[in-house]
Amino acid sequence: MAEAPNTKEKVVVRFPPSPTGFLHVGGARTALFNWLFARHHGGQFLLRLEDTDRERSEDRFVEDILESLRWLGLKWDGEPVFQSRRIERHKEVAAQLVEKGFAYKCDCTPEALDAYRKECQQKKLPYRYPGICRDKKEVRAPYVLRIRVPDDGETRFADMIRGEITIPNKDIEDWVLVRSDGNPTYNFVVVVDDHDMGVTHILRGEDHINNTPKQAMLYEALGYALPKFAHLPMILGSDRTKLSKRHGAASTLEYRKMGYLPEAMVNFLVRLGWSFGDEEVFTVDKLKSVFSVEHIGKANAIFNTEKLDWLNGIYLREKPSQELSDYMQQYFKEELTFAKSVPAASFVEGVKIIQGKVKNIPELIEQLYCLFGEDPDYDLTALKDAEKAPAKQAISDVSALLDASDFSIEDLEKRIRGYADDKGEKFGKIAKAVRFSLTGGKISPGLFEMISVQGKETVQRRMGRALKALG
Ligand code: GLU
Repeated sequence: MAEAPNTKEKVVVRFPPSPTGFLHVGGARTALFNWLFARHHGGQFLLRLEDTDRERSEDRFVEDILESLRWLGLKWDGEPVFQSRRIERHKEVAAQLVEKGFAYKCDCTPEALDAYRKECQQKKLPYRYPGICRDKKEVRAPYVLRIRVPDDGETRFADMIRGEITIPNKDIEDWVLVRSDGNPTYNFVVVVDDHDMGVTHILRGEDHINNTPKQAMLYEALGYALPKFAHLPMILGSDRTKLSKRHGAASTLEYRKMGYLPEAMVNFLVRLGWSFGDEEVFTVDKLKSVFSVEHIGKANAIFNTEKLDWLNGIYLREKPSQELSDYMQQYFKEELTFAKSVPAASFVEGVKIIQGKVKNIPELIEQLYCLFGEDPDYDLTALKDAEKAPAKQAISDVSALLDASDFSIEDLEKRIRGYADDKGEKFGKIAKAVRFSLTGGKISPGLFEMISVQGKETVQRRMGRALKALG
């Protein structure tokens, strides 16, 4: 199925997380695929919070999900739908199903069903609810509501990745639509909500593939048009087991804290199951134009943190320094308090000379600290004994030379290179001494850029302190 951009096919997708935990990176991948699919087709990306489990759903998880999507730039259309507020509608549809004979009440006790389950186990038969209450006239509370699955025939649905899938109805049991406490089940409400929200395509994890026949059957019973499905490959850790905390995988916002840029995260996530030739680096704009379900594979995807680091390095290097500074001020304000009194323009310049040399934001901040934080403690073991006296001389001379400098890169270069030439010294040697005085020798952005960024006051003070330390 070719998917040219701006296709006329109407597209409405949804992302329906349960707010019972922080948004996991696997969930973020599902959200991203849906969002890209919608954007590629000029369709809608809807958000639904599946919060019917009132005990486990929490506001802080709702907020975490929304914030994760905002961070990744996955803007949803319209207001989020809260599933728990649709309970009356769910009850109404349940009543319709009973009325039309597609559902029936069942008062089999859990004990009776357990005994039957054991019997099946002993006989090595698959357990399926045997339909005891299908035609019962009198049913006493507490009871559940079950769907009446046709004995014959089959249920089909189209999977955009795996093709047409057909399941014989005899393999599907009369599953529960509404529990005895009145709470509807996921497989029931998901159909009602997706239909009411006009969802046309459902992209979700492969772990849901066994639910889809049940849902497809309900679409049929209710006379709703069946959406198209795409079951996304699972994400595995490097040891090929299901991705979990053990692999260092964390919630989406933890990656923000670890200093990954959203651009890198999006680029990383999209490659978990989707590919486009040999290309690895994609801007969001490019993704919007080339993303298609055709290029989603069937094979499990491997979560490789080294690749994420690599991508993050690329995006850090390429992000305009002003934007990167604003980003850090937004999300790393506390970590940057040491730079509060640094003029904004110098800070941005500082970012500029370091951003291409680090893998993540904490590393960037560490190096900014060397530039703008407290003056370094000079570790004299960084210099060989024989280097100390010449270093002292060089620092003292350069410090004097800089008195008259305007601290422009050109002027600094002229003065310091000129000094090395006059002395007949290698520039590298002078640079090493100066660098030591300005940062304790810990970081290595270009020397003149660094001096210019630090500014006269800091440079002169640090040089003075280094001279003192050198004795
Ligand atoms: N709330 C379900 C989940 O988070 C939604 C699954 C679906 O996309 O239908 O797994």
